[in-house]
Parts: sequence; C-alpha cells; structure tokens
Amino acid sequence: MLPAFEKLSKILRLEQSRDYQDQAVIGGLEKFVAHWRTTARAETQDPALSRQIDEIADLLSGYAARDQEGRARTVSDILARLEQTLTPASAPPLRKPSPHKPGPAKPTAPTPAPAKPPAPPPPVERPCTGLDAAVTTLPGISTAYATRLRHLDITTVRDLLYHFPHRYDDYSTLKPISHLEYGEETTIIGTIWETTTRRSRGGGTIVSSIVADASGTIEAVWFNQPYLVRQLRTGRRIVLSGKVDEYLGRLTLQSPAWEPLERELIHTGRLVPIYPLTRGISARWMRRLMKRVVDHWAPRTPDPLPEKICERLGLLDLCAALQQMHFPDDQKAAKEARHRLSFDEFLLIQLGMLRQRQQWRNQQGIPLPRNQPLLDAFVASLPFELTPAQKRSLEQIVTDLEGDKPMSRLLQGDVGSGKTVVAAAAMLMALAAGKQSALMAPTEILAEQHYRTIAKLLATAPEWGLDRPVSIAFLTGGLRRVERRKVYTALASGAADIVVGTHALIQKHVTFKDLGLAIVDEQHRFGVAQRAMLRGKGGTPHVLVMSATPIPRSLALTLYGDLDISVIDELPPGRKPIQTRWLLRRERERAYSFLRSQVEKGRQAFILFPLVEESDKVEAKAAVEEYERLKESIFPDLRLGLLHGRMKVKEKDAVMDRFHDGEIDILVSTSVVEVGIDVPNAAVMMIEGADRFGLAQLHQFRGRVGRGPHQSYCLLLSDAASPDDPQTKATWERLKAIEDTQDGFVLAEKDLELRGPGDFFGLRQSGLPALRLASLSNVRVLEQARAEAQAIFAEDPTLNRPEYRLLQEQLDQFWQGKNDLS
Ligand code: ADP
Ligand code: MG
Repeated sequence: MLPAFEKLSKILRLEQSRDYQDQAVIGGLEKFVAHWRTTARAETQDPALSRQIDEIADLLSGYAARDQEGRARTVSDILARLEQTLTPASAPPLRKPSPHKPGPAKPTAPTPAPAKPPAPPPPVERPCTGLDAAVTTLPGISTAYATRLRHLDITTVRDLLYHFPHRYDDYSTLKPISHLEYGEETTIIGTIWETTTRRSRGGGTIVSSIVADASGTIEAVWFNQPYLVRQLRTGRRIVLSGKVDEYLGRLTLQSPAWEPLERELIHTGRLVPIYPLTRGISARWMRRLMKRVVDHWAPRTPDPLPEKICERLGLLDLCAALQQMHFPDDQKAAKEARHRLSFDEFLLIQLGMLRQRQQWRNQQGIPLPRNQPLLDAFVASLPFELTPAQKRSLEQIVTDLEGDKPMSRLLQGDVGSGKTVVAAAAMLMALAAGKQSALMAPTEILAEQHYRTIAKLLATAPEWGLDRPVSIAFLTGGLRRVERRKVYTALASGAADIVVGTHALIQKHVTFKDLGLAIVDEQHRFGVAQRAMLRGKGGTPHVLVMSATPIPRSLALTLYGDLDISVIDELPPGRKPIQTRWLLRRERERAYSFLRSQVEKGRQAFILFPLVEESDKVEAKAAVEEYERLKESIFPDLRLGLLHGRMKVKEKDAVMDRFHDGEIDILVSTSVVEVGIDVPNAAVMMIEGADRFGLAQLHQFRGRVGRGPHQSYCLLLSDAASPDDPQTKATWERLKAIEDTQDGFVLAEKDLELRGPGDFFGLRQSGLPALRLASLSNVRVLEQARAEAQAIFAEDPTLNRPEYRLLQEQLDQFWQGKNDLS
C-alpha cells in the first residue's frame, strides 16, 4: 500500500473514533485531501492507482457540508477502497517509482515532498506557473489525453478553465420512482436491490440493476459495460439521471448517468455541464477533470477586474464566475457567470481598439486640402444627385482628409447604397493634392469592377480644373509578370496616381512614391493586419474602409472601435424593393417554374446553396450535386453555371465573367458569390435552406440582385415541411421581417436583438482574437463593457496603475501583438 494510503487510512480511523466531527486533521479533511492527492499521485505511476487516488479525493470533497450519517458513509466507503488496494489482484503495491518498471520513468523526486503546496509541479523545461502550465502537469492527464485535448484547442490549465460547457442538462429535479413518467428526463435516488448480468441477443452484455426508493422500484440497464456489476453492489445508494424509457410495458432507465450518493453530485442531481468533446474524451471523464480543475484553479485565478468595478456593475468576481459557468447552482447563476465572462471578452476587445485608435491618432498625418470647386464639378458630372446620406459621409471624409491626423474611417452602407462614388470623390482630393491613392478589393472580379467604375468616374477630371489627366493602374495577382512590373514602376515613380487591385497591392514589391489615401472595400474580408499592411505602404496615409455589411451601431462601435464611422443609411431613390417570399419545401417546384419564366423574359438567376458550416468542401459538394441534378432533370434546356469555393480563382473568374456577360442563365453557387458583385440583369435570387440563416446574412445574399432596372425577386426556401409546427412557426415569424423591409440596418438590429452578437463576429474573425463567449451574450453586456472600457481608458490609457496591472497583462495576452500595427 502506498504510504499516502496508509496515512489517509490512519486519519480516517481517527475521524471514526471522534464521531465524524471533521477534527482528525487541522483545517478539516477537505483541505487535507487536496494536499494528500498531490502527495499520493507523486508516489505512483500506475494509472489504476492514480484513478483510485482521484476517486478517493473526489469522495472527500464536500465532506464538511455533510451530516454525520453522510460523513460516516464516506469514511467507510473510502476505508473499504483502501483495503481493497491491499489485495494484490487489484493493484500491484507500488511504493516508490519501482525499480522493476523500466520505460521512460522520469528522474523526478524519488520521495514525495512532504510540505508541497497543492499546486501541480511545473514542467521542468519551461518554468511557467500554474495556469499557463501544460495540462500534463495536472494529475491524471497523460500525454495521450493531452493530445486529445489539443483537438479542443486546450493545451494549458488556463485553456481548460476557459473550456466552457455549451449547455447544461437540468437534472436538478429529483422525483420519487412511483411518480416517473414515460419520456421524461429525471433524476432519482435509490438503493440497489440487486444487479445481474445477461447476454443480449447481439452477444453484448447487459447489466441490469433493480433500484428502489420508498415509493417503488425501477430497472436500470447498461449495455456492454460488464465492469458495472462490481460497482453497482447490492445495498449501495446511488443517484441516477436519464430518460425514462419503456420495455415490455414497464418503465426503465436506459444507460442512465449514475454515481454513488455520497459524492458531491457532479454528473447528476444538478445542472450538468455538457462540454464540447472530441474523440477519446468521454463526457464523464471531462466533467470529472473539469470539476477538479475548477475546484482547484478557479480560486487561484487572479481577477483582472478591480473589485470596485465588479461591485459597481454588479458582476460576479472571476472565481465565482468560473465556478458557476462550469457547475452552476441554478440557471440564474449560470447566466450571471456568462455575463461576467463575456463582459471580460468585450472589455478586452474594446480596450484593444481604443489603444489602437490612440496609436494612430498620435501620428502626424498628411493634410489633403479641400478643393471645393473640383469637388463640386465632380458631383455635377454625375448622372444622379447624391443622396443626403452620401453627402453627409462625403463631408465627414473630406473634413478628415484636411486634418493633420491620419483619417481612420469606416464607411458603412448597404449593398447598392453608393459607396463607390464617395470613395472616388475622396481619391479626387488626394489627386488634387498631388498624392497617390490605392483601392483594395477582396477579389479579382470586384477589383476589376471598381477599376472600370473609378476610371469612368474620373475620366473627365481635367475638364473640372485638375491640372493633368488621371492615370489609373490595375494590379492583381492574375496579371502577367511584365504587366505587374510596369505597374510597380509606375507606382514607385509616381506616374500612376491611382491603383485599384487585390491583395497584390500589399505584396512587398509594391512601393508608392507618395501614398496619401488607402481605401479597403468589403473590409470584413480582410484582417486588421492586411489593412495595416496597406496603410504601411505610405508614410501615414489616410485610411478609409468600406463595408456593405450593416452592423448595428452598438456592435460597430465595439468591432470597429478603432475607427470613426460614417453610415450611408438610405438607398438612392427609385430603387424597386426586391420582392421577397418564404416558401415551404414542397413549394420548390413552383419556385423552379418561376425562375424559368424569368429566364424566358431574358433575366438571369442565382440559386444559392449556402451551408452553415464553414467548410468549403462540404459546401462545394452540395452545390456540385445540386448543379448536376438541376442540369439534368429540371433545367436541361437552360444554360447553367456552377461556382464554389473549391474552384481555382481563374475558374471562378471565368464563370463570373460568363454570368456577367449573359452567357449563363442560372448560376448555381455556394455563398462565395461576392457581396459587391454587380450584374444588373440578375433578377432572381433563390436561397436553399434559408431558415438556417440570420436576417442580416439573408439580406446580404439578397443584395446580389436588384441592381438593374428590372423588378427583382428573392425566394427563400425553407427546410420546413409545414408552417404549423411550433418551432417552424417561431422561426418563420422572426424571418418574416425580411419580407417586409429592405433596410439592412433594421434587419441587423433585429438579428442582434434576437440572436446576440455572436453571429456578427465571424465577419471579422481574421482580425480578432478567438471569442469564446460572444455568441452567448447580449447587447447589454456589450454596451456595458464598452462604456467601462472608455471610462478606464479615459482615466488611465496606459493601464499603468496598480489596480489595472493585471488587466494590462491580460490585454496584451489577448491580442498577442495583433493590435500593434502602427
Ligand atoms: P455599393 O455601396 O454597394 O458599393 P455602388 O457604389 O456600387 O454601391 O453603387 C450602386 C449603384 O448605384 C451604381 O450603379 C451607382 O452608379 C448607383 N448610384 C450611386 N449613388 C447614386 C445616387 N445617389 N443616385 C442614383 N444612383 C446612384
Ligand atoms: Mg461596392
């Protein structure tokens, strides 16, 4: 027997002789056991024994809170286990790292250090403390398990602590057995009458226990877990949770979760955390591990938020939040925990943004003076009048350009709201000041579209009083080398005033003579870093980023907290609203004949197969299959095209070009069709599986039609078979909104309200640190965090005060250099 077992056994006998007053050791058994566990674990490398140690330690947690009877049961249970380990069959009696055991035995401490703190020993190579230590430093985590955990992005103790359940199952309602009803999820407490084993027809083992309480009995069965016979001993009191099933007219519990009654209820009898799992990691193992990690580490995780802030905002402290997030006392506590933890996330984002903004604003900019006559002449040359929103945005931009701080502005406007003219006007101001400008778009197609538009818009500049014709270059990765070289030279020498292009613009060969303005279109497609690289092509150029993704103001202020924001919140007059209809699955045929009738009128159509999972592969497969089916059996006489994310850039561009030129009637596509794509003749957008998407997202898809003079239509195909089942009804009511409004901002607000901020974050993933909680939180948390970040920043922008020291550290860790872009 391990020395630690002997010691514990002595202490427990003492406890017995003192009538379970919890006075056998100073500070109580519960405290003692944390220490004991570490010591005991250091004495053995045998996994079976290690498991024993953990289980014994688990049995003792919650000891202090038990009544005398409960304590007595615990003590006798443990003593029985300790005795069992004496029998050679159950485990070889290892005393110290045994000499007969070869293998990679570490030359670690041969004797357990007697007074070690309960923290696991740090790894030898890299002395990092506790929370940032590798998971393998935890007792019971082998390298095999560490590898599996890595699949969940867990490598350190901190990662574990922040590996949150994605939901809880509520087993907190205990019921007498006689009250059980078929089909309900329930928890019962009972005594085992007998446990038997039999063979199933398939040759497996069935373990069956009859469990009784004062009101009645029920049979519980488990499949292919023969070892349970030894654990489910007659007379044992256990807690069972699971779904009540029926077999041959009697109620049963099939493979219920269970545990001995004495234990603090981890798996049963409470809100049970359900963790994201991976292969080789069972729910039970994970919960047990988390329980230990949380019990031990939550109290040892320093709280970066000063107490006064927590108090003022009514937030849980970090320790309580972590504990309640994993093992909540009730739903309310779980909610408060989520609130606190997502608050932290938003606070860090916002502080990072504010820091970034300040770095930019501290730089000296290049003032581009306003040339009002030129501006007026440009506006007068347009075949339409600018909308008030366009005028307002343009004015804000021109004012920024005049200033001596570099502009950092986001121009937000729904698809078709007319951002391009505004951008062109800004470029004109750069031209007038003798500076160059660059416009970067996410794809070749969009870049080319912009190139043509800008060239057309600025072609007559000399007539407006500009001293020279405008030279515009086009640069993408698709150009031949010679062509590219020419552009490089023109930009470096200043021969080109403007360049429009793709990522190719931020390659290292590209240098500018004098870049005054950098514009990024569809900015969510680029990361913060790419934006910064474009900025880096000049001294401190003004930067304008454009986005067609309507984002509610509260969210935009957080996500784009480093930018000033202009919004074009109206469409040019005279646009026909896109007629939008929800259709049931069985109405698909109708949709097809509608498409056909539109094609017969000379229009073109999209059929979109967007999938929720962001897997190109799966999405592409679905689209390819559907394309084949449509081509063969639905529209054999029409010209169909196919577009998906697994195609090469060249292939995609070729298809898009053909669609643009009217050589394709119906384009079957995944969500890769560009947001900004301009095909005026496309009048129908049909979206499959539409009810799986948020309103803002659907609105984006819809925005790819309705750009020409024709009445356009959007058909939203639902997965639902009938509108009557309650769940469908709820979804439909939410989604009905899109039939009634064309305003992306209204839809986005609604989405935010209904689905929380999480869905929006994907849009900017490339630039943001991973967010674990955003999807679980709500707007209120977001706004609270923003206000607090501003208050903290106003008070101490460098976070140098002692009370913010931890916060500053966390901020650096959270962003890990992502924010250092100046
Ligand atoms: P987006 O904001 O989606 O980039 P664009 O700049 O591509 O929108 O503009 C969409 C279309 O609307 C273009 O054909 C453009 O010429 C036209 N447009 C822009 N502003 C106005 C306006 N004030 N009145 C009428 N048409 C306009
Ligand atoms: Mg655009």
